[in-house]
Amino acid sequence: MRCPYCGSDESRVVDSRDSESGDAVRRRRECLECDRRYTTYERVEDVPLVVVKRDGREEMFARAKLLNGLLRACEKRSVDRERLERAVDEIETEVRQGGRDRVSTQEVGERALRALREIDKVAYVRFASVYRQFDDLEQFQRELARLEEAGADPLPGEEPLPGLDGTGLDGELEALVTERRHNVTRQTP
Ligand SMILES: [Zn+2]
Repeated sequence: MRCPYCGSDESRVVDSRDSESGDAVRRRRECLECDRRYTTYERVEDVPLVVVKRDGREEMFARAKLLNGLLRACEKRSVDRERLERAVDEIETEVRQGGRDRVSTQEVGERALRALREIDKVAYVRFASVYRQFDDLEQFQRELARLEEAGADPLPGEEPLPGLDGTGLDGELEALVTERRHNVTRQTP
């Protein structure tokens, strides 16, 4: 940190506290060369999160789009918006863990499914149906019944969700997290 008066980079911190907004640390420093004091601010850098599509194209992670997808899946279900916002927060935190700044669309989609499965099974099936493309009502009902049976048990490890091994689904997964339109199946048993 260079002294604004004499250019020396030797200083000592005489005071350190959070800024009023709480998003920065404010430090009073004293120059060891000229003894004058100045202030520095330390902020968390807003690190962008890149979503990598299967074809290698990259887009910025779209928080609002992911939330929108979850909201649509939960339409007419008694799920708080706040709960879904928290889920999006958790997903983002999880994928950023370890300082990662890129994530595959596949991973975002699967994490979203895991979150939804704990929140609301019907919403989970709707969300899944966006890219699983249930052929008919019967298939949709079977999936619901299967989930009913399985309950909201935690999914084993990091294995893909049942029936969601990812193959051939990437295009639709990408649509979930990066595109504007979401066609959530409205079928209900
Ligand atoms: Zn100085």
